[in-house]
Amino acid sequence: MSGRARIEWVRRNGELGSTWNPVTGCTPISPGCENCYARQYASRLIAVPGVRERTKRQYRKWALGPMVWPDRLREPYGWSPRAIFVCSMADLFHCGVGYETLVTIWRVMRDNPRHLFLVLTKRPERAEADVPVIQAQLDIEAPLRNVWMGVTGETHGYAVKRTAILGRVPAALRFLSYEPALGPVDIHACSAIDWVIAGGETGHNARPPHPGWFARVRDACVERAIPFFFKGHGAWVPAGAKAPDNGAGVALVDGGEGLRAHKMRRGRGVRHLDGTPWTEIPKEPQQFQNKSAI
Ligand code: SF4
Repeated sequence: MSGRARIEWVRRNGELGSTWNPVTGCTPISPGCENCYARQYASRLIAVPGVRERTKRQYRKWALGPMVWPDRLREPYGWSPRAIFVCSMADLFHCGVGYETLVTIWRVMRDNPRHLFLVLTKRPERAEADVPVIQAQLDIEAPLRNVWMGVTGETHGYAVKRTAILGRVPAALRFLSYEPALGPVDIHACSAIDWVIAGGETGHNARPPHPGWFARVRDACVERAIPFFFKGHGAWVPAGAKAPDNGAGVALVDGGEGLRAHKMRRGRGVRHLDGTPWTEIPKEPQQFQNKSAI
């Protein structure tokens, strides 16, 4: 699968990147997993006519935990340079992913410096324990310059805890994914963050975020010169924001201000914050920027 993924923050030099899923399947670990996009995608996929039976078999077992697709492990070797989201359909550091699989994935990333790999996890404890060992095994002396590591912090507690652990994981760049935003987060309390991606939950059972949460995170990022990427409010649009209101519901959003949000029937809603799009992506080190070959 070398097609480009429509994931706005997986871009390089303005071009959309790809997802690479040598492992699929997961189990929940925190409140952000409640409406897991990957789980929903897997259940939709098995109902699509024309999808190969082998693929459907694998996705039927998605919720049982991680499974490896051996024939996908070498895919990035054949791709033109791009940004790659590693395991969008799993959590790479789930305890069900074998250590040797992690070594293989790190070897692929080491061997392909022309790509930029983005790894996002809710389980940084395992990354902290295993990444240094993997690097030593592969004779990697410094963090790979083409690997950016991120954690999800859907609430303040998870953001603080996981970024603190992430700070001890060798990485060229560390990022926080504040999505789905389920409460306010004080970025000043988060350590070792070079980039913040934020967004509200989408889908049928989406939980409404307070727009003030995003504004405060953005302001803290501006103050600390941290690039900020806003994916949108999600399924809930703040009342008064310019958006198609197709009236699927109204909620009173937590925040003590009596703020109302309208639920969209479909779509991602408003992507602007206070009328401005925020789509900042950190600059890459020169070492692998614009490299066209190994
Ligand atoms: S960790 Fe990620 S992939 Fe796994 S259940 Fe949670 S949201 Fe889904």
